[in-house]
Amino acid sequence: MKKIITSIFVIASFLSPFVMAEQINLYSARKEALIKPLLDKFTAETGISVNLVTGNADNLITRLANEGKYSPADLLLTTDVGRLYRAKQQGLTQAINTTQATASVPSNFRDSQGHWIGLSLRARPIMVSADRVDSNAITRLEDLVKPEWKGRICIRSSSNIYNQSMVASMISQIGEVNTQEWVKQFVKNFARPPQGGDRDQIKAVAAGQCDVAIANTYYLAGMLTSKDETTVSQAQKVNVIWPNQDSRGAHVNISGVALTKYAPNAEVASQLIDFLLNEKSQQWYATTNHEYPVLPDIAWSDVLKKFGTFKMEQVPLTELGVYNADAVKIMDRAGWK
Ligand code: FE
Repeated sequence: MKKIITSIFVIASFLSPFVMAEQINLYSARKEALIKPLLDKFTAETGISVNLVTGNADNLITRLANEGKYSPADLLLTTDVGRLYRAKQQGLTQAINTTQATASVPSNFRDSQGHWIGLSLRARPIMVSADRVDSNAITRLEDLVKPEWKGRICIRSSSNIYNQSMVASMISQIGEVNTQEWVKQFVKNFARPPQGGDRDQIKAVAAGQCDVAIANTYYLAGMLTSKDETTVSQAQKVNVIWPNQDSRGAHVNISGVALTKYAPNAEVASQLIDFLLNEKSQQWYATTNHEYPVLPDIAWSDVLKKFGTFKMEQVPLTELGVYNADAVKIMDRAGWK
């Protein structure tokens, strides 16, 4: 009997390879190097293969929408909650199974209906010239609109989702009118028209083109641990300031994952999510990407420790999606290029 079953199994595997091999299709907006090693580990441990499609987040969302129920995608991974929110709004996602792992993620870092969940945290503090700016001179984002910072601030374009999310988060917490006023004055203090990515703002501070920047910490951490001496010395010229520590806390965002509405392999996809939330994966994220683990008990990388502990915003990240359009409007009106 056993022999017969085995032969049926073997024949079936020839006839229909899709039935046999467990696999997950992952649409990812993360750089391959920052996720692939974890996926390989998952495959080694479980035998489940992960087909990785890497691309721009908006393009992947459009692709998901166009593919509809025929989409092979099980999971959508992005590096900003704004995109996960958008995918949910477009009806492209469904609730992820609640497990011990997903339940241990703080509730502000996951969707209230469980459609998406944070995998790592990214903080966006103020970064200043170590030589030219006293670290006590700024304690709040609101300080950056003061006349003393005129022509001294570098930040990337308003088309960047990190900035959109930061402004959306302000709208949620201090209101639209206050945020609009802040953005209007903030833009007037720019040293130059927005250009480049976060790393370029840090370099501009190091080069003396401006004195203050706003950037995600993993960029600075990546520069500090770079093999290139010039990059390291540029990063060493910059200090981190955690803003709004007496009030709402510093702005944070997530890299996270959503389960697609028509996921053909939802069950095993859920297994992968749990894997990405286990202690080892969270540690890997923390040390390789220099992001903050989304689980509170995991140790930070040594570089991140040097930036110090800080109070994080507690706003449910859904709000960043809710107010994204308003944020874009406010930035446009203020002439934030
Ligand atoms: Fe980034």
